[in-house]
Amino acid sequence: MPELPEVETIVKGLKALISGSKIVKVKVKEPRLIAFPGAADFIDGLTDREILMVRRRGKYILFDLVGDKTMVVHLRMTGRLLVKPRAAVYDKHTYIIFELDNSDDLRFNNSRKFGRLYLIDRCNEQPAGGLASLGPEPLAEDFSEDIFSERLSSRKGNIKALLLNQNFIAGLGNIYTDEALFRAGISPFRDAASLSQPEISKLYQGIRLVLQEGIKAGGTSFSDYRNALGEKGLFQNQLSVYQQTGHACLNCGQEIRKVKLAGRGTHYCPSCQQ
Ligand SMILES: [Zn+2]
Repeated sequence: MPELPEVETIVKGLKALISGSKIVKVKVKEPRLIAFPGAADFIDGLTDREILMVRRRGKYILFDLVGDKTMVVHLRMTGRLLVKPRAAVYDKHTYIIFELDNSDDLRFNNSRKFGRLYLIDRCNEQPAGGLASLGPEPLAEDFSEDIFSERLSSRKGNIKALLLNQNFIAGLGNIYTDEALFRAGISPFRDAASLSQPEISKLYQGIRLVLQEGIKAGGTSFSDYRNALGEKGLFQNQLSVYQQTGHACLNCGQEIRKVKLAGRGTHYCPSCQQ
């Protein structure tokens, strides 16, 4: 599933490609992807609306429209938002098409149909899945080490599970959580409450660093993720532990291991991460 750096890369592309464009027609081939409101109201609310801004919150993509509405897209497993010339043939899994006034389309592709789209009032994020309850943005300027430390101090349970919890911190998924814990030298098996102040500090920096590097590389592409132009990211070439099972650790040479933790495949170095 696309995480913060992948969604950020998609948003950057969309911003450049479609900000200021007007949606002239909406085609919905798979109504169940529209989670709120119904498909008819969704189409009605978007037709003839100009896209003022595209932005990211956690793993959600938000399109602010002229007026007071915002379209929210969660890509989940295999969702893609692609800008294509109107004349381009539809992909087999193109399910929602936004025809723009500049003869391009914004197309939502989703082979596994887990993605979700919402059209909400900008002032009320409640109907848009978990958007309203997201935790802080890890790369926001006001997200300080003190705030991170304070939020951690009130939490119990496993550190990996906590980092994956979108209400605790927004945007991290399996890839960047494993990478951040490796950078911090913290075992994914640790209890959040057991982290020392220096460890919390390393984790805070590790999270910000891997996310920034991920954005710089245009995200991580194993199979599904593509940016708004359909291009792959490059961060898969810079991963230290994620999907590196059996490879030698870059720090110490020990074999990277994979276990199931918090319901997810978890990659770590048994020697560097204590
Ligand atoms: Zn190691």
